[in-house]
Amino acid sequence: MNEPNSAPAAAAATDAAGASGAFGGAGGASVVGVVGAGTMGTGIAQCLAEAGHRVIVVDPEESALATAPARLRDGIRLARMFRKQPAAVAMDAALDAVTWARSPRDLADARFVLECAPERIPLKEKVFRELDDACRGDAVFATVTSAIPVGRLAAQTGRPRQVLGMHFMNPAPLKEAVEVIRGPRTADETLDTALALLAGIGKTGIVVSDAPGFVSNRVLMLTINEAATVVQQGTADAATVDRIFQDCFGHTMGPLATGDLIGLDTIVDTLYVLLECTGDERFQPCGQLRDLVAAGHAGRKTGQGFHRYGTV
Ligand code: NAD
Repeated sequence: MNEPNSAPAAAAATDAAGASGAFGGAGGASVVGVVGAGTMGTGIAQCLAEAGHRVIVVDPEESALATAPARLRDGIRLARMFRKQPAAVAMDAALDAVTWARSPRDLADARFVLECAPERIPLKEKVFRELDDACRGDAVFATVTSAIPVGRLAAQTGRPRQVLGMHFMNPAPLKEAVEVIRGPRTADETLDTALALLAGIGKTGIVVSDAPGFVSNRVLMLTINEAATVVQQGTADAATVDRIFQDCFGHTMGPLATGDLIGLDTIVDTLYVLLECTGDERFQPCGQLRDLVAAGHAGRKTGQGFHRYGTV
């Protein structure tokens, strides 16, 4: 591990800024690492590959690696149906740009790594320690965490100046903006590199300070938990709750359909992170949410959550 606050770490952050040009545009051919081949990891790998980056996705789970290439192909197809602009890179080239691996050691050459592992504090802390050991000293690490304070993960590394949060929303390829979290020790150069990477994949970063749940999930997780409690107490069923938000407020999606899209397992994990980090009992996941997850109904990805879905 590099020493915290060491001169090499500071110099490395400057180097990373110098490298920001490599992340700024299509055809950059820089190697970007992604940790986790799930919903977010695959979506973010797609964004990067379609902008011309070489991407290495690492996941220790055989089952995740087995299904990820097909999910990537489906994601590319879908994005091409929705996107107004033609893609910069042909579909086969985008698929070929992504390689799949099992160990963080496979990210030794990556200049930028996006961590998309499950939302559990000890697991992510371990991943950051492994990345710090495996990756080059000038690599920048971004966590896609939903709620864990960036400073807590950065403290697992000897390069806290080179760590920040990049909270992509789901589905990553179809969203225009990303909540970017500046940790207490994130260097200006690291922020510049991350914003350049985002600009190069056609997205805007909206920068906020570090806090549990940042802006988005501090608010959204309470809303989803409360909407689930409304169903639990029998005030209205899930379809009715979502209709109120769509037809009365004009939201594109109700809170329970949003929960299904995110993944109810991820919602419960995120609420527990917020509960632990804030001590605020409002973040205690309600029984309805926990029961659905325990029954394997984690939302769209399992075919059922608060609503039923035709295809997984
Ligand atoms: P997911 O469950 O779909 O995928 C997680 C992946 O990480 C799985 O493939 C799993 O095999 C893999 N994994 C497990 N242990 C690992 C390890 N030690 N190293 C590397 N990979 C490992 O979860 P997701 O929805 O993609 O969420 C990933 C992160 O993104 C979480 O922090 C989540 O809070 C955040 N996030 C999720 C959403 C969303 O809508 N799903 C949105 C924004 C942020």
